[in-house]
Amino acid sequence: MLIKRPKGTQDILPSVVNKWKAVEETVSQAAEQFGFREIRTPVFEETGLYVRSVGDTSDVVTKEMYTVSSKGDDTFTLRPEGTAGVIRAMLENGIMNEGFPRKVYYIIPCYRHEKPQAGRYREFRQFGVEMAGSASPYADAEIILLAATVLDGCGLENVELHLNSIGCPECREKYRSALREYFEPHKDELCPTCNERLGKNPMRLLDCKSPICKEIAKDAPIITDYLCDGCREHFEKLRKILDGYEIKYILDPKIVRGLDYYTRTVFEFISNGIGAQGTVCGGGRYDGLISELGGQPTPALGFGMGLERLILTMESEGCEFPPAKTPDLYIAPMGERAQEKAALLCDAVRRAGYAAEFDIIGRGLKPQMRYADKIKAKFVCVLGDNELDSGEAKLKNMRTGDEKAFKLEEFIGEFHNLLIEELFGTGLGDALADSIGDLPANTVPPETNGRN
Ligand code: ATP
Ligand code: MG
Repeated sequence: MLIKRPKGTQDILPSVVNKWKAVEETVSQAAEQFGFREIRTPVFEETGLYVRSVGDTSDVVTKEMYTVSSKGDDTFTLRPEGTAGVIRAMLENGIMNEGFPRKVYYIIPCYRHEKPQAGRYREFRQFGVEMAGSASPYADAEIILLAATVLDGCGLENVELHLNSIGCPECREKYRSALREYFEPHKDELCPTCNERLGKNPMRLLDCKSPICKEIAKDAPIITDYLCDGCREHFEKLRKILDGYEIKYILDPKIVRGLDYYTRTVFEFISNGIGAQGTVCGGGRYDGLISELGGQPTPALGFGMGLERLILTMESEGCEFPPAKTPDLYIAPMGERAQEKAALLCDAVRRAGYAAEFDIIGRGLKPQMRYADKIKAKFVCVLGDNELDSGEAKLKNMRTGDEKAFKLEEFIGEFHNLLIEELFGTGLGDALADSIGDLPANTVPPETNGRN
């Protein structure tokens, strides 16, 4: 019996990998435009890192972690989110001492033991950014603008930004008491998790997905009525900056975010097109996290964007993905002598920077042509004894069916010009050749290998 992949995981097959590459390219380009540099950290970390940062009342820590004990005493957890590991790495490697603001981004797989459903997996991929060292609302705006730029760059039009401020520990103290007072009379109707949370962390109740808790929470007091002067001013300034960028947002007091470490600004980008798991991106400010993890108190913020949900949203909105790359050339040899020549030609074509294949099975012409069709080769060159003896062969443009004869010893140059014409239109090959000077036309494919 075949072994199946674990529940809640996905195989990203060659036929759809172009979508992933396009999205990864879009997000990294945008991040780099905003001055973020990529960071790569381990897939697993000491469990304590997540307990300390994500918080011991969060769903992620209480229910969703994949924890393994190793041969020693330590226990390790597969990364459920990116922030904790990245902040750990920045502190451990002294990156925080290199001057502020520090800005990093990452594209990573994350692991959470959740109930698999559309848009919710046990292994999923996240694009995330973290910025350390600025308490200014301009930093919050930069992060939000970056997320909006990415979504825009992906072609999305129906994603809403929901914005809230959850204040600082001081404003939250008063707010928590108000929430407890509000929920206390409904205690027995709440789901067991929320019932338990009421004492420890009542703000979590606002984040619960159970319909009953949602209904009860509808008229709960809202945090923005409890903000201290500093937090209120920060929020007002942020909104003014976003208005300046003409970024539309919905003030949503129910956005509290699932992780314990957030302060002040929190936000989510929500898509209406992909069902219940519509939050494509969530983030905010976490001014307390860096000191919690043993660093100097440093204001910081960031977001995580679920790439599966991003791609699902793009598909639901009919966004276009760039097509997968296809080989530039397929060489179809007939017989052993031709195969030897095909191998060398193919090598020369690849070294000139093109994607090329030749037959490595020893099949007849018909199955070879079927294969060339299937891999969508742009050009095909059939090589047999006749071609080898005369020193002349034909390159066939598979889209138009046009064939052009050429001297084998001028292969690379001929191929180069034909390909440029195919890609950029007639005449351009010559124009380009003129403007760049001598293209590798008339290059003789090396018979012996002289790699440098
Ligand atoms: P949700 O409320 O949907 O559970 P979350 O608040 O737990 O999300 P975050 O921890 O903020 O999510 O993670 C950031 C982003 O990662 C989410 O907005 C979402 O796009 C994505 N994400 C989170 N969990 C999953 C999952 N199990 N499968 C796929 N994507 C996920
Ligand atoms: Mg979750």
